[in-house]
Amino acid sequence: MITCWQCKKELEKGLFCPSCNALQSPPTDYFTFFSLPRHLSINIEALQAKFYDLSRKLHPDKYSRKSETERANSTAATAVLNDAWRTLKNPITRAEYLLAQSGLEIGEQRSKDVPPELLDEVFELNMALEELRHGDQSAKVELATAREKFQAMLAASDADLENLFVKHDAESCPPALAAIRAVLNRRRYITNLIRDVDKELS
Ligand SMILES: [Zn+2]
Repeated sequence: MITCWQCKKELEKGLFCPSCNALQSPPTDYFTFFSLPRHLSINIEALQAKFYDLSRKLHPDKYSRKSETERANSTAATAVLNDAWRTLKNPITRAEYLLAQSGLEIGEQRSKDVPPELLDEVFELNMALEELRHGDQSAKVELATAREKFQAMLAASDADLENLFVKHDAESCPPALAAIRAVLNRRRYITNLIRDVDKELS
């Protein structure tokens, strides 16, 4: 049983004691902090409204005359609030967060670990990059075309993710998490490729 640090009454979940309204030490888990189920599809407007509401309620300025405990809780809660909002508002970082908690971190995506289904495209791309580095300006057209293709793949990954999020939330199934991880790895790889192309084209 968790009790309020101030009045010692039993606490339900939430940041404030229902009896004396004292601000409690915040949970560090982002979903728990926002009282959200561990779902990957999130209503962003509702989350944003909660973020603004809590930003006001937890603001350290409101606690400048309060006890040391409450001032410390306000600082800690504001830090978790900002990290939680930044992480959960973006579907990619939200999924990465949930995956990391399930022990499924996203890998480094070194350039030699080409996803097998991208081998041909990546080979063509590297050839064009090589040509451009040797002064062949015509390779620029090829690179721009490749860039468009990879950009379209990113858009397709985002659509895949959206469907997998729904699947995950409905069944809380580990296979959906593994599939999400595969899409995120591929996505990160493609993002790196586009970054390399942009560097050469600029
Ligand atoms: Zn209390």
